[in-house]
Amino acid sequence: MAEKEMRTLSNGVNMPEIGFGTYLLDNLQARSCVGQALQDGYRLIDGAAFYGNETGVGQGIRDAMQSGVSREDLFVVSKVWKDSMGYELTMASFEKTLRELQLEYLDLYLIHWPSGDHELDRSSWQALIDLYKSGKARAIGVSNFKPEDLMPLFDMEIVPMVNQIMVYPGWKQDTVTSFCRQHGIQVMAWSPLGRGRVLNNHLLRQIAAAYGKSTAQICLRWEIQKGFVPVPKSVSPARIRENLDVFDFELTTGQMQAIDSLPPME
Ligand code: NDP
Repeated sequence: MAEKEMRTLSNGVNMPEIGFGTYLLDNLQARSCVGQALQDGYRLIDGAAFYGNETGVGQGIRDAMQSGVSREDLFVVSKVWKDSMGYELTMASFEKTLRELQLEYLDLYLIHWPSGDHELDRSSWQALIDLYKSGKARAIGVSNFKPEDLMPLFDMEIVPMVNQIMVYPGWKQDTVTSFCRQHGIQVMAWSPLGRGRVLNNHLLRQIAAAYGKSTAQICLRWEIQKGFVPVPKSVSPARIRENLDVFDFELTTGQMQAIDSLPPME
């Protein structure tokens, strides 16, 4: 039987193996969905300055803390957006995120997208290194970085601990994920349900039926068994709960390989 575990990042910090995504939630939804997700047992919340809802995310976190969830058990993630690249702007964006969330520190801070300019990426990365060294971010990383975007950071004092990329059945990103594995970088899977586009797939439905699970749960289980950290998003209380209910079964090697072989799906 599968059990909920933690992923240990290269700096020794433990990260939950599944999280709750907050993209496309407005502030009110963010408050209620994050609050509910935390009550249901999620401990990782994936946010970003770009989502424009960090005030609501922060309120949801505080609601949960008032009901007994402790800050130390949470793993709060945010990201610096493309319009705030460069040392000073990245620092300012981080402080704005902390103010909006009303938190003293983040558990993980990411560069949301590579800028296309390695020097600019390096200067934002230096800001993240300084935030990490000051204790304001317990871990740091990037998102949507390919090997050629990651390599220019490798001669800096600290190497990214996480790369958050789009991964779902039929979109498994072998080149980036194996590069990350080789370099000790934990992969987080965004759009882990392919934004719904894979949920009617025949193979996934067959496997789901065999376990009495939903196709969404099969996607999440596949990602977890591949060693990724998926961050599914939902506004539906039932689906928020469903997406966390993936620790009472385990896909076989054959099923994992069959899902690995799925072609890209539109
Ligand atoms: P997901 O793959 O999580 O899919 C979300 C969609 O699936 C929504 O339409 C949701 O609808 C539906 N859904 C959720 N659960 C179920 C279920 N159990 N059964 C059926 N349908 C379901 O896509 P996202 O793009 O939202 O990605 C998740 C998170 O990843 C984001 O919220 C964000 O945190 C992160 N992300 C990061 C990016 C980056 O660049 N780093 C880019 C994009 C996303 P409903 O809400 O109605 O349930």
